Amino acid sequence: MFRVSVEFPDGASYSLKQSALAAAPPEKKKKTKACWACGKAGVKTKKCSGCEVARYCSRECSKRDWKEHRKTCGKEV
Ligand SMILES: [Zn+2]
Ligand SMILES: [Zn+2]
Repeated sequence: MFRVSVEFPDGASYSLKQSALAAAPPEKKKKTKACWACGKAGVKTKKCSGCEVARYCSRECSKRDWKEHRKTCGKEV
């Protein structure tokens, strides 16, 4: 079941998360387990150390996507 904290404005952090997702291009939303830069799926991906949401198969890919990802990285915290 869905539990919502009464003491903290849980809805606020939630809407922040959702706006961060909305800011990402739609194809990235679907491929959260694939590399966000090259779209490769079924490979070992590393989470972005900044937000632990973005995933990349290699450092090269994380660097390649960082120009875009930096705009949303960490925003959901
Ligand atoms: Zn990649
Ligand atoms: Zn990040």
